[in-house]
Amino acid sequence: SSYNDKDFSFRVNGGTGRVPVGVGRKRMRIVVTGGAGFVGSHLVDKLIKRGDDVIVIDNFFTGRKENVKHHFGNPRFELIRHDVVEPILLEVDQIYHLACPASPVHYNLLDFDSFEILNCDYKTNVMGTLNMLGLAKRIGAKFLLTSTSEVYGDPLEHPQKETYWGHVNPIGVRSCYDEGKRTAETLTMDYHRGANVEVRIARIFNTYGPRMCLDDGRVVSNFVAQAIRKQPMTVYGDGKQTRSFQFVSDLVDGLVALMEGEHIGPFNLGNPGEFTMLELAGVVKEVIDPSATIEFKANTADDPHKRKPDISKAKELLNWEPKISLQEGLPLMVNDFRNRILNEDEGKGN
Ligand code: NAD
Ligand code: UDP
Ligand code: UDP
Repeated sequence: SSYNDKDFSFRVNGGTGRVPVGVGRKRMRIVVTGGAGFVGSHLVDKLIKRGDDVIVIDNFFTGRKENVKHHFGNPRFELIRHDVVEPILLEVDQIYHLACPASPVHYNLLDFDSFEILNCDYKTNVMGTLNMLGLAKRIGAKFLLTSTSEVYGDPLEHPQKETYWGHVNPIGVRSCYDEGKRTAETLTMDYHRGANVEVRIARIFNTYGPRMCLDDGRVVSNFVAQAIRKQPMTVYGDGKQTRSFQFVSDLVDGLVALMEGEHIGPFNLGNPGEFTMLELAGVVKEVIDPSATIEFKANTADDPHKRKPDISKAKELLNWEPKISLQEGLPLMVNDFRNRILNEDEGKGN
């Protein structure tokens, strides 16, 4: 696989170069909510490159204009600052609904006692998804929800198949996210059954890559940033809990295959390679800085002990599987992280 550092376009096994909209396929207009975020901005790159028109809706809660600024000036790209909790009127063919404050540090910024906080995960997941489904229903657009492996909670089944109903604490600190996405899935199926909206549901497993939020508390971004800053990597608990890490270009390919395919889902989209946090720290050490050290910290409540997708359904029905291993993917995010960390330090006058 090769990787273009400048515009983060990926070419895997001869893969996804610039493809003009061919004869027989009409150019579509596509909304990406959360399109200024990590996953959303890579999706936007792929859709624009493919030749479609893209409208990004984002309130910049965790996303950044920088992630999409290379499209500014392109008449096929539009950026709307808007909170999906509020209704919006648009005319489009497809809606990729990603908007959601999605990382542990950001949960903690929120004041759960106040109903005035618009960025509460639960409220965004419920009202944002409802509005996007209402929009899809009114204009007959296809709707794709980015749900999460967190719907499985602290799973009692391993690896997780789409048929597993999950093990979630409904009143825990993570429940705004877990239950928010579970409700979003319910709404999606409601609009499908009740209003004939054509829907797709992706259950995304831990994903990493360039443009991930720095310091948002996710483990890959933490370890990579810590290794670059020559700080110890913070391993929570005993570090024996597991996750499966997917490179962002694999996810984006999966999302597009799902949207374009015939099947509603839900589909697990993740890389089945399973690592303990200690093993992850080992890989970061190996590929980024052999002198990197680790430091143990107390773990957070309700932390799932293990997680690994069973992706047989996506393999069979979407003809999709991830191509980039952790060892191949981590180096692809290092330059982006280094540059942003450098700019941050310069900004501080260091
Ligand atoms: P991200 O935080 O980088 O992107 C989310 C985007 O949504 C940001 O640009 C943010 O500003 C925007 N947003 C948040 N609330 C909004 C609101 N009320 N109105 C409009 N925009 C809003 O996160 P990401 O990793 O790119 O995640 C994208 C989607 O994928 C999310 O729905 C997330 O739940 C899902 N997901 C991601 C992962 C992962 O590992 N990255 C795993 C599972 C699921
Ligand atoms: N909605 C929207 N844009 C549209 C259509 C609907 O934002 O183009 C919102 C609408 O304001 C409502 C939600 O989507 O809050 C659900 O719409 P629906 O028509 O399904 O429900 P209703 O308005 O009948 O309660
Ligand atoms: N984690 C860690 N050190 C960190 C951040 C996270 O050891 O600096 C652990 C965390 O306890 C969890 C795993 O890494 O077991 C994945 O955490 P993350 O927040 O990235 O994703 P999620 O828990 O949502 O899968």
